[in-house]
Amino acid sequence: MIIDLHNHTPLCNHADGNLSQYIEKAIEKGTKYFGISDHAPMDFDTKYRMNFEQMKEYEQDILEAKEKYKDKIEILLGYEVDYLKNHMDKRVLEADVDYLIGSVHFIDEWGFDNPEFIGKYENQDIDEIWQKYFNTIQEMAESKLFDIVGHLDLIKVFKFMPNKNIVEIAKDALKAIKKANMAIEINMAGYRKPIKEAYPSKELLQEAFKLEIPITFGSDAHIPEQVSLYEKEIVELAKDVGYTQCAVFKNRKRELINF
Ligand SMILES: [Zn+2]
Ligand SMILES: [Zn+2]
Repeated sequence: MIIDLHNHTPLCNHADGNLSQYIEKAIEKGTKYFGISDHAPMDFDTKYRMNFEQMKEYEQDILEAKEKYKDKIEILLGYEVDYLKNHMDKRVLEADVDYLIGSVHFIDEWGFDNPEFIGKYENQDIDEIWQKYFNTIQEMAESKLFDIVGHLDLIKVFKFMPNKNIVEIAKDALKAIKKANMAIEINMAGYRKPIKEAYPSKELLQEAFKLEIPITFGSDAHIPEQVSLYEKEIVELAKDVGYTQCAVFKNRKRELINF
């Protein structure tokens, strides 16, 4: 995978392996730019993320690895940040990093992608859930706080699909992403979940392509073996839709390279 900007570390308390195992896997897979973007700290859902005191350790570890592996691979430093009103923190938003991925894992404060809270799908209208999710993506884009949209259609994770047309539901969110000059990632984690396909789906990716929204790629690895695991599938998907370039970020500046 030439560019792979979404990868975790054990600091988030739900990933295994150590940083060098992830990096060595990426080198083995021929990755040129390998970004670590662990779950940023926040004062909510604290169980599944590092705490604020660990940011320094996290950033230092990555910068040391960047130096150590510089002849083999370019390591980039990022965070995956939850877009959640009243819980976003300046220490994260102003961190000195290469990029920030903005992700919606919560609708209001419901962790909709966490199997622990799956019961909540039963007593709500599925079309409304989907619309609320994409409205939150739209708000995230409008906040202009982030560089990359994480797993654009994560709401499909458990395969509870809407009755309404998905492109219609996501239309305003996509426009806001374009307006905010953000990139979206093609994320491999969906293949490991009940939905068994990439985030986003082909139909949403086609819409993004029409709007000329740039893409990047991410394994969303939580163990080293997941690095580049579905590389072939996502590269094929991107090419099928018409993409020939993907984005990399350094010091929060975007460059496009051919893949
Ligand atoms: Zn995670
Ligand atoms: Zn995520």
